[in-house]
Amino acid sequence: ITSADPIKDVQQEVKEWAKEKKTEIEVLRNQEKFRREFLSNISHELKTPLFAIQGYIDAILDDEFEDLDMAEQFLKKASRNVGRLTYLIKDLDEISKLESGEIPINYTKFKINDLIKEVLEALEFKAKQHDIKLLFKQKYDEPIMVTADREKISQVLVNLLDNAIKYGRQGGTAAVSLFELHDQVLVEVTDDGFGIEEKNLPRLFERFYRTDTSRSREIGGSGLGLAIVKHIVEAHQQTINVRSTEGIGSTFGFTLEKVKQQLPFPPIPTLRS
Ligand code: ADP
Repeated sequence: ITSADPIKDVQQEVKEWAKEKKTEIEVLRNQEKFRREFLSNISHELKTPLFAIQGYIDAILDDEFEDLDMAEQFLKKASRNVGRLTYLIKDLDEISKLESGEIPINYTKFKINDLIKEVLEALEFKAKQHDIKLLFKQKYDEPIMVTADREKISQVLVNLLDNAIKYGRQGGTAAVSLFELHDQVLVEVTDDGFGIEEKNLPRLFERFYRTDTSRSREIGGSGLGLAIVKHIVEAHQQTINVRSTEGIGSTFGFTLEKVKQQLPFPPIPTLRS
């Protein structure tokens, strides 16, 4: 629609164009800030284990170092730090691939109960090492079919259970519960461990975010596990949330799309007149 005043029209157009450009610049600036923060986080996370490895090796290489038992201890510690680096690089690779959309969501239909059992079995050994009992709280015997990327949902469960074990309580439990909603299922992973302070909850899913508790207790981790989890769940157009009470435990819950039940009989055809 053109108004009676062509100059006003042009002015309006320029104003709108300027507004658009301003938003574009803001988006680019945010992306740049994000990239800078990401890089600085990565270098920090890489530096810590590398410095430790360097320290242990230098100590052993010192001319005056003779204690073979201590050398073994130092090598073990260096090896543990190499392990940390390996995990970190694996997680970094995963998150960058997920974010670039390089690995698309490969939807299939599968029984979520079976996947949960598989993942629990795979983590049984680790749980035992931490003296934590793994449980599957299944309300219904009937298996529930979901539509999702089986491998990626397996990763979500592994990351959440891995945390439930790492931040769990010795002698405690880590449990997976399954709830049927209208056209979704809700999968919850619950532990009775440290719990998370309320002020930390909003930032928990950010890359590299770790609470003071996990840092001070030196529990290994990249700080990327939950960022990967959130990314996968949201790529499925589903939701993830957390509730936690310090000293009592945490519950992480995510939804999945349920396969609609087939009617046992074909629908009755309507009569044509
Ligand atoms: P990390 O590699 O540090 O475990 P995550 O992204 O998986 O990284 O988790 C981020 C932080 O959230 C952890 O460092 C920890 O402080 C906290 N956290 C995650 N899961 C739990 C849990 N089940 N109980 C207590 N704290 C948790």
